[in-house]
Amino acid sequence: MKLSKTDFLIFKECQKNAWLKIHRPDIYFKYPLSAFEKNIIETGNEIDEMARQLFPGGVLVKSREDSKSTQKLIAERTSVIYQPVFASEKFLAVSDILVWNKETEKYDLYEVKSSTVSEEDGGRKTEDYLVDMAFQKRVILETGIMSGEISLGQTYLVRLNKEYIRRGELNVFGLFKVENLTKEVDEILKEIGAEMDSAFEVLSSEKEPPGHCGCILKGRGSHCTTSEYSNADIPEYSVHDIARIGNSKKKLKELVDSSILNIADIPQDFELSEIQRRQVDTAQSGRTYIDRAGISEFLATIKYPVAFLDYETYPSALPRFDGYRPYQQIPFQFSLHVMEKPGGELLHYDFIHAEDTCPDEAFVSSLQKDLPKFGSILVWNMKFEKGINAQIAERQPKFAKFLKEVNDRVVDLMIPFYGKTLVYDHPKFYGSASIKYVLPALVPELSYKNLHIQEGGTASDTWNRIVSGEYGAEEKECEIRALLDYCGQDTLAMVEIWRVLEGESK
Ligand code: SF4
Repeated sequence: MKLSKTDFLIFKECQKNAWLKIHRPDIYFKYPLSAFEKNIIETGNEIDEMARQLFPGGVLVKSREDSKSTQKLIAERTSVIYQPVFASEKFLAVSDILVWNKETEKYDLYEVKSSTVSEEDGGRKTEDYLVDMAFQKRVILETGIMSGEISLGQTYLVRLNKEYIRRGELNVFGLFKVENLTKEVDEILKEIGAEMDSAFEVLSSEKEPPGHCGCILKGRGSHCTTSEYSNADIPEYSVHDIARIGNSKKKLKELVDSSILNIADIPQDFELSEIQRRQVDTAQSGRTYIDRAGISEFLATIKYPVAFLDYETYPSALPRFDGYRPYQQIPFQFSLHVMEKPGGELLHYDFIHAEDTCPDEAFVSSLQKDLPKFGSILVWNMKFEKGINAQIAERQPKFAKFLKEVNDRVVDLMIPFYGKTLVYDHPKFYGSASIKYVLPALVPELSYKNLHIQEGGTASDTWNRIVSGEYGAEEKECEIRALLDYCGQDTLAMVEIWRVLEGESK
C-alpha cells in the first residue's frame, strides 16, 4: 500500500473513515455521490486547468500513478509539468504544477485550491493547505528525485481571488492569488512527517480502528456517510440532532458518556438552552407546540397582495459573465405565486433562463413585470433571496431601486419555525426549520418525492448541464420542465404552509 495525500488528509480528520476508505470501500462508497459532491469535484478540475494558464505550455502527466515519466520530465528539466506524480516507498503524491525557475535553477511547487482568498481573510483555511503541501514536499524529498543538481525551490499556494470581477475575457492573473508559503511549510515538515508515518501504520494494518468514530461527539451536520456504520447504535433521532449541539460539545459529551443517545431518554433536569429544551419536549411528548398569539402576531405583518417567491441559482466558481466574482450565484430561475386578496385565486408566474448568457437583465425584468406593485413578498430564509437581489443590484445599477424596494417588502416565512422566534414546532421537524422537514410534517400530501428534481443541488447542477449543452433538444425540454416543476413546488409549499399558519391562528 502507498498512502495517498487524499487519504492522509481524511486520516487527519478521522482515522476510522480513512481506514474504511482503504479497507472497506463497500462501506465508504456505499452511496453514490450527490449532484453537489460531483459538482465540487468538477469545479476543482476546472480550476486546476484554468490555473495552468498561469504557466502555459507545460507537459501533463496523464496517469495519477505515473511517477516514472514525472522522473524523466524532471531529469530533462522540462520547464512546466502539470500533475507530476511522486511515489516513495510508503507514500504517493500528485502535485498540481511544477515550474522550473531559471533564476534559482530549482523547481517551484504550486498547489492549486478552488477556494477563494481576499485581502482580509488571507490566513483562513491556510493551515489545512500547509499540511497538504508539507505532505507533497516530504514525499518529493523522500524520492530523492530532487536532490543534487535539481532541487526543490519555493512552495506556492494558488487560490481564487475573491475580489476579482470579470470584465470581458477572464484574466487569469487577476483571477488567482499566489502566495509563497515555503517558510510555513518548512516549519511543519517534521511534525507532518511523523504524522504521515503513524497514519501509514494505522492504515496499512488490516485491523479496523475499534469503537465509535469521532463524530459520536459532533452534531449530526458533521457526520459523514460512514457514520451509520461506525456509530450504528445512534438512533435515527438522536441527541446529535438537538439544535446547535455541535456548538455545545460539553453537553453532548455528558450525554454520550452517560450512554444517552436517544433524544427520548434525555432527563427533564438536563441543562439545555430554551430552544433545545423546546425541541426535546416536543420530541418526547410527540405533541405539536403551537403559540397561537405568536402566529397571529407574525401573520399580522403580512399584507395583501401576498407574493410567494423562490429563486434558483448556480454558484459558478469561475465567473461566467461580466460583473460576476468567483462563486457568485447566477440567478437563473424564479417561481412566484400570488394571492391578490383573502380567499382570492392563486396565480402562478415563473421564469427560467436556459441559455449560456447572463440572465440578470431578463430575470429582473420578469420579476418587475410579475410581482405585484405592493404587498408582502414571502420567501423561505430571506438571507438568500435578499442577498441575491443585492448582488444583482451591484451588477445592474439600473435595477437597484426596484430591488431595494423588493427587499424592503420581504417577509421570512421561516421565522415562525426558527430559533428564538419559533411559535410552531412539530416532532417531525426534527429540530430543523428547513422547508424539506416542515412541509412533509404540515402538508404531507404535497411531496417532492414524485418530482424528477427533488432538491436545490440537483436543480443547480441541471441548469449548468442544460446551458453547457450536455442535453439534446428533447432532453433539454424535459429538464427545463423538471426545473419549473421543482421551483413551482417550492413556492406552492410556502402557500400551503402559510395556509396552515392561518388555520392555526383562528
Ligand atoms: S462520522 Fe465518523 S467516520 Fe465520518 S468523519 Fe465523522 S468521525 Fe469520521
